Amino acid sequence: MLRLFFYIFSLKILDVAYECLSDICNDIIIKNEYRTTKKRELFVKIIVLGNQAAFPKAGRHHVSFIVSDDEGTNLLLEMGPGTCSRFQEYVPLSSITAVLISHAHADHLLDLFTFAYGVYMYNYLQRGKYRPQVYLPSHGIRVVEAIAKDLNVEKYIESLSLAPVAEEFNIRKLTVKTQRTNHFIPTVAIRIEDVQGKSVTYTSDTGFTEELVDFAKNTDLLIAEATLRKDDESPQLKHLSGRLAGMLAKKSAAKRLLLAHLWYEYDESEILDEAKQVFDGEIEIAQEGKIYTI
Ligand SMILES: [Zn+2]
Ligand SMILES: [Zn+2]
Repeated sequence: MLRLFFYIFSLKILDVAYECLSDICNDIIIKNEYRTTKKRELFVKIIVLGNQAAFPKAGRHHVSFIVSDDEGTNLLLEMGPGTCSRFQEYVPLSSITAVLISHAHADHLLDLFTFAYGVYMYNYLQRGKYRPQVYLPSHGIRVVEAIAKDLNVEKYIESLSLAPVAEEFNIRKLTVKTQRTNHFIPTVAIRIEDVQGKSVTYTSDTGFTEELVDFAKNTDLLIAEATLRKDDESPQLKHLSGRLAGMLAKKSAAKRLLLAHLWYEYDESEILDEAKQVFDGEIEIAQEGKIYTI
């Protein structure tokens, strides 16, 4: 009788132990799922490849960025001279999902021909069918096609899928929004949002406009051009100063401001100070090689 009691009692202990163990396991699984979900939804990073305007300082690079998520999407923003060499320090050629070019000025465009040659040769040597999308304003497509014709490199450009930018479109899980800026040729500012609505907004080249304030509203990371000093400001120049970049960040309630498209002769700390006098949020020069997250 006593033996039977101990037998039943030990079975009960095993039962309780099993329940406790499965509760702990479930807890771990739920926590892991939560962690994985959190990581997937929050992880968008921006790598600064270059922060210079039309003519770069020695050892520095034209304005260009990689925006990537943890599902392997890599968007390359801008294609100034030297960009192809720069982006390969971080990601290989065939992992570029799409290229976005804001306008057809040389400092934003010229390495597209190098890129096209790279894609053409990659497919030729690997017998692959890699054909990345390249988005740019319609005007930019006409410029690219005209240059390709004059240089007799049309077959390389045909390795790319050129498409005019729409106001809003999706690239995998990222949403891309664009808006015309006030510049010398058709140019777009670019806003990229993840599934949670977290965003990075890049002004490209532009004069100050209220439309740009609305476009950048509440953005998590504003990358603003700051080509000019305060004393240079003029409606004819159609560029921002550090002060105007600061005003844009303040009026749009941006959470963080990076200054880019910097003029090679100017002292960057002066441009930064001019921006700081207007915007009291988090602010710095977009540092080449630095990785930012939103
Ligand atoms: Zn430019
Ligand atoms: Zn420009």
